[in-house]
Amino acid sequence: MQTKLLINGKLVAGEGKVEDVLNPATGKVLARVPEASRGQIDAAVKAADAAFEGWARTAPKDRAYLLLKLADRIEADGAAFAKVESQNCGKPLAAALNDEIPAIADVFRFFAGACRTMTGAVAGEYLAGFTSMIRRDPIGVVASIAPWNYPLMMAAWKLGPALAAGNTVVLKPSEQTPLTALKLGELLAEIFPAGVVNIVCGRGRSVGAPLTRHAKVRMISLTGDVATGGRILMQAADGIKRTHLELGGKAPVIVFDDADVQSVVEGVRTFGYYNAGQDCTAACRIYAGAKVYDRLVADLSSAVSTIKTGLQTAKGVEMGPLISAEQRDRVAGFVKRAQRQKHIEITAGGNAGAGGGFFFEPTVIANARQSDEIVRREVFGPVVSVTRFKDTDDAVKWANDSEYGLASSVWTQDVGKAMTVASRLQYGCTWINTHFMLVSEMPHGGLKRSGYGKDLSAYALEDYTVVRHVMAKL
Ligand code: NAD
Repeated sequence: MQTKLLINGKLVAGEGKVEDVLNPATGKVLARVPEASRGQIDAAVKAADAAFEGWARTAPKDRAYLLLKLADRIEADGAAFAKVESQNCGKPLAAALNDEIPAIADVFRFFAGACRTMTGAVAGEYLAGFTSMIRRDPIGVVASIAPWNYPLMMAAWKLGPALAAGNTVVLKPSEQTPLTALKLGELLAEIFPAGVVNIVCGRGRSVGAPLTRHAKVRMISLTGDVATGGRILMQAADGIKRTHLELGGKAPVIVFDDADVQSVVEGVRTFGYYNAGQDCTAACRIYAGAKVYDRLVADLSSAVSTIKTGLQTAKGVEMGPLISAEQRDRVAGFVKRAQRQKHIEITAGGNAGAGGGFFFEPTVIANARQSDEIVRREVFGPVVSVTRFKDTDDAVKWANDSEYGLASSVWTQDVGKAMTVASRLQYGCTWINTHFMLVSEMPHGGLKRSGYGKDLSAYALEDYTVVRHVMAKL
């Protein structure tokens, strides 16, 4: 297992406190990863700063070639990456291999192409005798901070646009899931000039905070919890740093009476429980029309009861454990508190799994009300609530009545209704008759406390660049 950091083109052992990295399916230690020391954080940022000018001035096509090479190498080594990812996150090996690895390679390929098409918006004379042009230039050293739910994918979402745009990066994976990013470090060391990408490991307080506060860091990109986003903003304040925040979510799923119930059930069975529900876009908050409600609850509950949970390589496994005992207990706490409410009915699951792993049963909570904690707060686990609504205005009002604004979906066979409701939802993304579908060409990002800034798409390239005006006297 590769546990070395990447600093200035070299793989080096961390000099800080050693962190146990677990296999969440067994609770056993998978690797021991030493954190970066303060000196190593400083060295990583200084290396990125020193590499910045050269990388920023590397022609887009040459940056693109390296990103394409990286995509090819990840794909070629996909089985090994997927194995490490599934061991470290507990997720089914097949999901890591067949869903994530191709999507990760595609992200690098997309940004390799996209950076070659970047243009400024204008070149013209806005004052007699002067020509103005707009340039889109990189920002400098980006501190990229990733969460534990899709470690390699989040690394790709952060490295792809930042590097394509000509920035240099210091990436900090989650202390709970650093292993695929560290493995990626081997490829990055081979492919990119020294200092262009650096990887430091460790906890938020001991490594993330000093990294983001470093004077040479010009932008901070975080995918993580809302509370962490708030802390990042404070850490960014002194240095007036740009921030790019992808925070939590609590996706509403509005199911109208005329929806195709079978496809809703199949959709929520997949998109509510994928990655054990540890997904900021998880289809976790259903609003069901009064006429479709009973059938939906019954069919969804029996469908969810068939989700096969187990070890990463178990035959046919669909869902793994939660990332940690703490996360499992947190999820169990939400379900227990919901259960105490008289109106609530748990129609599937509801319990933690047995054994050393951090499993929790796929759960459906019916009869939930808008004011219930289970409807309002992000659980980040395999728990879906269902709330009955009578008219469209209620459904839209409740869906929007949330601190989050990342993803949403509308299910109906009436195209006009779908489009009207989609236009009224305050979410970064609204899917119609599906959920969770992401493509590299389209932006992913939120509103409200879900943060701001876009991952994926040409909009991410905009976020990782700055608009500059150059004016020449003729
Ligand atoms: P987290 O906020 O606990 O940690 C995220 C990262 O921030 C980790 O690498 C952590 O070490 C680091 N960190 C923590 N405190 C820090 C500090 N003060 N300074 C710098 N870095 C610090 O989140 P998590 O538990 O790893 O991930 C789950 C959360 O991420 C959920 O809320 C989920 O919704 C969110 N998420 C959002 C998206 C999205 O695209 N919007 C995607 C995935 C996950």
